[in-house]
This record gives sequence, C-alpha cells and structure tokens, in this order.
Amino acid sequence: MRFSHDTELTLRAACVLVNSNRVDGERLGDLAALDAYLDGFGWTGRRDRDAAELESVHRLRDRLAEIWAVAADEEQVVAKVNALLSDTRAAPWLTRHPEMPEWHLHLASVDDPLWQRMGAEMAMALADLIRAGELRRLKTCAAADCDAVLIDFSRNRSGKFCDTGNCANRQHVAAYRERRAHAKQ
Ligand SMILES: [Zn+2]
Ligand SMILES: [Zn+2]
Repeated sequence: MRFSHDTELTLRAACVLVNSNRVDGERLGDLAALDAYLDGFGWTGRRDRDAAELESVHRLRDRLAEIWAVAADEEQVVAKVNALLSDTRAAPWLTRHPEMPEWHLHLASVDDPLWQRMGAEMAMALADLIRAGELRRLKTCAAADCDAVLIDFSRNRSGKFCDTGNCANRQHVAAYRERRAHAKQ
C-alpha cells in the first residue's frame, strides 16, 4: 500500500509531535521549539506565537498520543479520529500552489487556529490509514526503556524501533554485549 506524499509527511509530523515529550523530557516547551518544529514540517498559515497556541498544540499532542495508545483497537481509533475531525471543523477544499502544483486537499482555512489546521490534517491522514486497513503501522518503540511512537512505512511493516532515541542501534549493542557475556562463561 502506498500512501500519498501528504499523508506520509503528515503522519511523520504527528509522530514527531507525540515524541516531543517522550525522549529527553519536554522538547516542545517554548515558542522557539514550536517554531522549529513547524518550520521543519513546512506548516504555513496563521501563527499567534503565544502561550495559548503552544498549550493548544500540547493538547493536540495528548490526543494523538491517545490514538497511538489504542492503535490495536480499530473502533476506538475511529471514534477518536472522528472526534478530532469534528472538533477541528475539518472542511476539505481543493487547492494548488507553487510548493505543491498538483491539486490536493487542504482541510482548513489558513486563518484557522494552528492546532485546528494541524489536527484536521493529522486526522485526515489517520483516516487514510484506517481506510487502507493499515492501522498496524502505528507502533510504539520495542525498546524496553523507550515509549516513543513510530509510524512504520516499511514495505513489510517490520519496523520496531523509534528513530528518536537511537533505539535500534542501542538494541544491537545490548544484544552484542549479551552474546559476549555468555561467550565468556
Ligand atoms: Zn498544499
Ligand atoms: Zn525508542
């Protein structure tokens, strides 16, 4: 199953948002950090740059985290995604612009509050995943000491580790040490 570029990018953005307080504490704690995150994923449109906006993005992060937490239960995910579509007043309209010359959907007006625009795009990307029967791609890192989430776009859904905490590499090192320790006995 191939997803559109928008869907993939938006799901990656959701994943990075959820992980922003799961590895090395709070990494979205001020407006500068929020700006860096938004610029990194090319979010455009209205930005208030105030405490209320940051707070609203933190609340969106919590809602997304709850969706990842129930990813194994399709009905629960659907209910949460529907609630997000409704609360963000997602209203699709077709547009194209220099960065993206092909016709595509935007889900909110550029003047809508930031969290609402982000939440609508993320809810729609999750809806794509649900429609494709691919919710299993929403995962939590398999490293024992890590609760970061991941979106696994690998062909055979074999991804296990987040790309935030260097977990795959740490697991390899741990397994290597383990083998050496046993070899010495
Ligand atoms: Zn666009
Ligand atoms: Zn991890």
